[in-house]
Formats: sequence, C-alpha cells, structure tokens
Amino acid sequence: MDDCIFCKVARREIPASVVYEDDTVLAFDDIHPQAPVHTLVIPKTHYAGLADAVPDSVLAALLAVVPTVAGIKGVADSGYRTIINTGPDAGQSVSHLHLHIIGGTPMGEGMVSPV
Ligand code: AMP
Ligand code: ZN
Repeated sequence: MDDCIFCKVARREIPASVVYEDDTVLAFDDIHPQAPVHTLVIPKTHYAGLADAVPDSVLAALLAVVPTVAGIKGVADSGYRTIINTGPDAGQSVSHLHLHIIGGTPMGEGMVSPV
C-alpha cells in the first residue's frame, strides 16, 4: 500500500526504532509510547486489520514472535500486555494490522478504559 505508514516503515522509507525483524514480521517501538515498553509488531505484508482475511501463517508468525520481542525489551519475566485494536471503538488508528506489546510497569487487572 503506497500511502500506508506501516508499509512505509516495513519498506524502511520512514525511520523506526526496529527491535526485531524476520521474513514475515517487523517489530519497532511505538512513536508515542504509553508505557516504558511499547513495541509494535506488524506483518510486512499489508492487511488492514485482524478481519482482513489474514492467513493463519501470518497470524501465527505475529503471535509467535511476541515472547522473543518481550525478551529483547526486557519484560519477559515482569510481564506485558498484548493488544490488537480492531475498528473505531477499539481506537484503531493505523489500518495496517499491528500488535502492541506494552509493559515495564504494573498495569493492574482492568483492560477497558471507556472514553
Ligand atoms: P492503534 O491505535 O492500535 O491503531 O495504534 C497505532 C499506534 O501506532 C499508535 O500507538 C501510534 O503511536 C503508533 N504509530 C503511529 N505512527 C507511528 C510510527 N511512524 N512509528 C511508530 N509508531 C507509530
Ligand atoms: Zn500497510
């Protein structure tokens, strides 16, 4: 996708703090971190979101790399939250499938923060 910001990150057309990369996925730090650790994992191929007929192999790759990225970011033992926002109510702001890894601070048990 020519005008997709995460496709541009994947093509290295805009800078990013890359944490991990393989043939299928790229992990980079969120530009507006909401916690001490806030890293995004994306498929290098464009999918608008979780409902965009994403192949099982891509979903598996996205999830499988999470513990590796968490280890690189130093939160494997302390713990972290893994989030995929889908659609308006979830606040999805970038229409390229991405998974958030958030950690480095206690986050409590709540997962919903109504606006
Ligand atoms: P979401 O609200 O789930 O769509 O999350 C999109 C995330 O992408 C937000 O947390 C943004 O801060 C982040 N973001 C947007 N542009 C960039 C960028 N160029 N590099 C890194 N993170 C970005
Ligand atoms: Zn894209």
